[in-house]
Amino acid sequence: MRKLYTVIIMVLLMAVLSACQVNSVNENVKWEKSDKKKNVVSSSTTPLSEYPGIDIESILMEGDEFVYSVHMPKIEGAAWNQEMDLWIGKEIDDFAREAKGMSQPDQKRPPELHIDFEIYSASEKSISVKFESFVFREGEPLQVETSTYSFDRENEEFLTLSHLFKDDSSYLERLSELSFQKLMKNPKIKEQLTEEHVRQSLEPTVENFKHFFIKDEKLIVLFEAGRIGPHSIGDLEIELTKDELKDILKQETVLGIVEEVEEAKEPKEPVEKEEKDSKDDAAVVDPNKKYVALSFDDGPHKSVTPRILDILAKYDAHATFFVLGTQAEAYPEILKRAVSEGHEIGNHSWSHPYLSKLSQGQIKEQLRKTDELVAGATGVAPGLVRPPYGEVNEAIKASINKPIIKWSVDTRDWESRNPNAIMAKVQSQVKDGAIILMHDTYSTTAESLDRVLKWLYEEGYEVVTVSELLGFSTNPEIAIAGKVYSAQEPKNSSMNVALDEKSSKK
Ligand code: ZN
Repeated sequence: MRKLYTVIIMVLLMAVLSACQVNSVNENVKWEKSDKKKNVVSSSTTPLSEYPGIDIESILMEGDEFVYSVHMPKIEGAAWNQEMDLWIGKEIDDFAREAKGMSQPDQKRPPELHIDFEIYSASEKSISVKFESFVFREGEPLQVETSTYSFDRENEEFLTLSHLFKDDSSYLERLSELSFQKLMKNPKIKEQLTEEHVRQSLEPTVENFKHFFIKDEKLIVLFEAGRIGPHSIGDLEIELTKDELKDILKQETVLGIVEEVEEAKEPKEPVEKEEKDSKDDAAVVDPNKKYVALSFDDGPHKSVTPRILDILAKYDAHATFFVLGTQAEAYPEILKRAVSEGHEIGNHSWSHPYLSKLSQGQIKEQLRKTDELVAGATGVAPGLVRPPYGEVNEAIKASINKPIIKWSVDTRDWESRNPNAIMAKVQSQVKDGAIILMHDTYSTTAESLDRVLKWLYEEGYEVVTVSELLGFSTNPEIAIAGKVYSAQEPKNSSMNVALDEKSSKK
């Protein structure tokens, strides 16, 4: 049995290494050199001659408890590299932790992790990369996992399908239909699978269409082996042209400019808004109305925050943005827009330090600088503080002369980066008076927001700012400096008043 695995691993390694031809020679040498040593870690960076401006970073580790080899592309610009380091670091940590826990005395070979990549396309505008990770553990089937990343190099942001398609288009349904038509033309599929099976595998969900690439102004959707049919069919790809998608594509995307297409449907949004307004009016007389506050930390972000503001506006929902001074300094006009659209700005420190590691003077300085900047940009100083990491102790409380806001619903959007997972967290934890924590720094969070808001309103919630939820907007005297609030305090009548205040702001 062991031999079989060894052969499989060898074959895989060969295949994997050949994908990075440029540095595979170096690598093999290193791999052998480390033969007699224990716990050898090496890392190297090699330029990729085929793609100028792109380097391969390789990290190799050979120890008694586990072995890994990891390769990732690095490009100019911080956003891509930062995400790669975070993601790969987490993959390695998770693997190493599990490997240590599982180490057996009679283990003949330590567990192995190998991550390699294929550059699918790279241009000045965008880069699309496919990663495969292989985990080998003695006595277990080999685990193979595919991950894909597409990145807009001009705007320095990772792409999701919602970057390409109009918000109100049913793009997943369209992708599902087009994929079905194209896959059914593939002889391998036609022979082995029924139409019904293919349809079922193509449910219009984000998960089913999460792997895509941008190449030569085309959108390539990848279905990794095993997603549509048996593994033996292998990876399946379908190619979609701008023309096939032009009525639902945003006018300007990494796919290029799309000429405006006459839209058949008439103004859907104003109608929705009218409904919402009448709901608002009903709310004042309805004592059973439920309220939640949405809060976004760590922004403003140059592209994600404006997207979030667009979606909030669609629902006439108001939120609280706990901003960092460093970000606010870079994008003051986004703060101005948020305030003018009825949102609240809170203080999330200047540079996101652990406040517990600072002196009281330093904490005050972190907050003062951000207060000043926000007041300068918007005309309104933040009335609330959320310490970085939600960290609170007596010294921190004593240093903050404003209400301290934590949360009762943690979407963990920074961790999952997955709209479905974010939605599930909200659905399972939200209740009347909740404060929901999100981050306006991840495009996946923006992607989730439309659905989250739709669901909240369907469930009868009204979405307000933290100060409105806590009643501070109308009764500033009930806001206690240094007190920690995680949700609305036991239901009182302050909300109806708060809502009047909300309408008067519009
Ligand atoms: Zn934060």
